[in-house]
Amino acid sequence: MRTLAEDLAAAYDGPAAADAPLAPLTRFGLGGPADWLFTPERDDQVGPLLACLHAHGVPVTILGDGTNVLVRDGGVRGAVIRVGRDLAGLTWEDGLARCGAGLPAAVLARRAIEAGRGGFAWAAGLPGSLGGALAGNAGAYGGDMAGATAAVAGYLPDGSPLRIESGALRFSYRRCHLPAGAVVTRVDLRLPPLPPAALPAERECYEAISGKRAAARTAGVRTAGCTFKNPPGEHAGRLIDACGLKGRRRGGARVFAHHANFIEALDETATAADVEALIEEVAAAVARETGVRLEREIRIYGEP
Ligand SMILES: Cc1cc2nc3c(=O)[nH]c(=O)nc-3n(C[C@H](O)[C@H](O)[C@H](O)COP(=O)(O)OP(=O)(O)OC[C@H]3O[C@@H](n4cnc5c(N)ncnc54)[C@H](O)[C@@H]3O)c2cc1C
Repeated sequence: MRTLAEDLAAAYDGPAAADAPLAPLTRFGLGGPADWLFTPERDDQVGPLLACLHAHGVPVTILGDGTNVLVRDGGVRGAVIRVGRDLAGLTWEDGLARCGAGLPAAVLARRAIEAGRGGFAWAAGLPGSLGGALAGNAGAYGGDMAGATAAVAGYLPDGSPLRIESGALRFSYRRCHLPAGAVVTRVDLRLPPLPPAALPAERECYEAISGKRAAARTAGVRTAGCTFKNPPGEHAGRLIDACGLKGRRRGGARVFAHHANFIEALDETATAADVEALIEEVAAAVARETGVRLEREIRIYGEP
């Protein structure tokens, strides 16, 4: 039987690194290395890579732009596959935007406006890639991926190709039923050409949302956005604030002063363990004082 390294050399010709730091690949800027980091440059590299890792029983973690994840300090065992800027193509067809999953959602929002397309202004300034947005049914300002997605394509964990129409993804609040371990490489979105008379309103909407994002004062903040999902009929941030937790600090992690549902990493002393401990502290305090059990929105990967 051939070794993993031999099989990889035969199956995959894209960028790969061993013992690769993940902190620079996440917005928190925290966490340890991946045993292996693969950053495919072409869609057709992903299937053979997955098949090879699958055959050797290597666990796979998928990363987009790292704006919604916390990597633990001990790093991630096995392989991390990052769907990044090399898989970020965009072509327009009749009513569709055919996108690489590595395309930043905010870039698509801007390019849709430039191309006179409607249906994606809500994503103005949304951090992260389309693949990450799809996986978590990202949403903002009245729109979400569920409302815009037509179909996705990618690969199953054994490397076989996958194509799913939007209805089969059974989207719900911050949730999308992708097959477990599927790597999305392409996302088709329904972004129809707008009649000229509708363009100014769409542009205005885009500008207004961009302005709101800028006013949220999150530029340069090391955070993964909303820590918790909003409970039905409530805002997690309001509950956290009402419990007096805004500004609460644990080591180098702090509840963000301008949005209580965000946790920020403050300085070079911050660790992923600080962030995780603060997440648990906030959830416990909210449960104790309000009876509401907050469900975590950000994903946590790796070992302590
Ligand atoms: C300042 C700030 C504001 C934010 N505001 C919002 C907001 O208003 N609304 C909102 O919904 N979110 C918001 N977020 C969260 C974040 O923008 C979204 O969750 C984003 O869509 C994540 O994309 P990503 O590429 O960074 O994914 P990552 O953080 O890299 O990954 C997130 C999850 O998606 C999976 N994933 C990523 N790419 C793929 C792929 N190609 N195939 C399969 N699975 C994949 C990962 O395995 C992981 O489970 C905010 C974050 C920040 C930092």
